[in-house]
Order: sequence, then structure tokens, then C-alpha cells
Amino acid sequence: MSVEGTCPVCEAEVNLKEDVLVSEIFSCPDCHSILVVDSIYDHQVSLKEAPAIEEDWGQ
Ligand SMILES: [Zn+2]
Repeated sequence: MSVEGTCPVCEAEVNLKEDVLVSEIFSCPDCHSILVVDSIYDHQVSLKEAPAIEEDWGQ
């Protein structure tokens, strides 16, 4: 059994493994946007686009 969500960028249906965790980051198989799991409920996940990761070393 898998959990399902919808990509917030391209609205593709995305299937994730059942043991996916909130805050887990992955890329959409369709549009390759970086997504983060916002919440999980009853085999439905809410996804949001991950904030851009800026390299900010040594500042
Ligand atoms: Zn997408």
C-alpha cells in the first residue's frame, strides 16, 4: 500500500511509500520540483514546494 499526494507545482499524482515521514524531501517524478511532505493523513499526503536551499557557508 502506498500513500498518495498531489504535486503543488504540476498537479501530478505522486505515490509515496507508506512509511514516508513528514518533512521528507523528494523530487516530483513529473516536473522534478523539490517537494516536502507537509502532513500525512489517512494515506493522503499534503505536499508543498520545498524552499530553495541557498548555500550560505561561513557568513
Ligand atoms: Zn510536479
